[in-house]
Amino acid sequence: MTPAPAGAYPRAAVIVVGTELVAGVRVDTNGAEVAGALAAAGYIATRREILPDEVEILAERIAALVDSHELVVVTGGLGPTHDDVTRQAAAAALGLPLGTDSVIEARLQPVLARHRIPDAAAQVLRQAHVLEGARILMPERGTAPGQLVPTAHGHLVLLPGPPHELRPMLAEALRSLGRGARAEPRVIGCVGIAESDAQLTAQKVLAPHPGIGLTVLARPALVDIVLIDEGVTSDELDLAAREIAEAIGDACYSTSGAMLAQAVIERASSRRVTLSLAESCTGGLIAAALTSVPGASSVFLGSVVTYADDMKRELLGVQEETLRDRGAVSGETAREMASGVRELTGADVALAVTGIAGPAGGSTAKPVGTVWFAVASGTDVTSERCHFSGDREIVRARATATALDLLRRALPPPETGPA
Ligand code: ATP
Repeated sequence: MTPAPAGAYPRAAVIVVGTELVAGVRVDTNGAEVAGALAAAGYIATRREILPDEVEILAERIAALVDSHELVVVTGGLGPTHDDVTRQAAAAALGLPLGTDSVIEARLQPVLARHRIPDAAAQVLRQAHVLEGARILMPERGTAPGQLVPTAHGHLVLLPGPPHELRPMLAEALRSLGRGARAEPRVIGCVGIAESDAQLTAQKVLAPHPGIGLTVLARPALVDIVLIDEGVTSDELDLAAREIAEAIGDACYSTSGAMLAQAVIERASSRRVTLSLAESCTGGLIAAALTSVPGASSVFLGSVVTYADDMKRELLGVQEETLRDRGAVSGETAREMASGVRELTGADVALAVTGIAGPAGGSTAKPVGTVWFAVASGTDVTSERCHFSGDREIVRARATATALDLLRRALPPPETGPA
């Protein structure tokens, strides 16, 4: 194994065992849960494999992964049935004999008493088989114990499949390995920026910070730049996050993992500006995003969802001629919707959105994905046209994020920079 660079975190691998998991009959949740716990305990999970209940395959993969990782965690296949072969595979991989632990054997006696078939009793007793030199992780519930086995480069941990049995044993194994916690990843939220631009900008800033890992996650209209502690201090992570935010500029709305809606509410709250919405194609999604933020009620007055033209006219005062001459999806309608809802609610700033989410309803002049936005504040009403690609849900998600960004930009920034 190539040793990890000085200051870097040790590498861990997770093996999830179960033929039904490989086949997709059951969904693996253990893999993500274990990887998350390992990250929190100071490991970098570099590999996750889902393998069938087959001794040779398991033995081969365990042998390979213990050779390249300081910690390998295997979940599942520790029970009493014929397909529970993890112990046997681990013994073969490490070249260690399996012995019988008398304490576990004694604990299994009440279970044995319930079996009438002699072969079943023999199978139950396999749960008392322990690899030589292993520390036993006693179950709080269930019967299969876990095992913590020293390897040439670190440790192998065998855990049962049921999540409620696995959790306390994994915690005990990590405690006994004495790992210190890693710094929380820093999430820099960006809007209206291309994923590759975000990545290249971040990479340039991170060049002098070798201990920081980078992941870029894109969602409709949004990009999260995630900084991962791979051997730096919390302060260094914060500094890098601030430098990236500065390099990205106004497209960055948060360095603290806050949602875009939260950034809008924070800006509005800090300036005591009230907000309202008139939504058509987003059908309340923008209001849902804003109201998901605790404390939104101090600045968000409400949203009027006007899907039909009649509603736009009757509730928001959009002119008959505007709808007839310009259409419901137009800058004029969006502006009248924004002014109308601002008047109706008395908000300081109002935003309106009207568009064609598809799949039907598009034309050459107004193709599917055409969305108009308008913002009314004071005497000023501005509008903006966007064209979003993607299916109905993606168009609506992009329209929601863009609307939140327009609201954010319409509000004066807080003196302290991004949240
Ligand atoms: P048991 O003693 O219960 O047989 P085991 O270690 O042999 O434990 P498995 O037989 O592989 O574990 O799985 C037992 C149960 O644990 C499964 O029926 C399922 O409910 C749950 N389980 C196993 N693996 C996973 C996984 N990767 N994700 C979520 N649940 C799982």
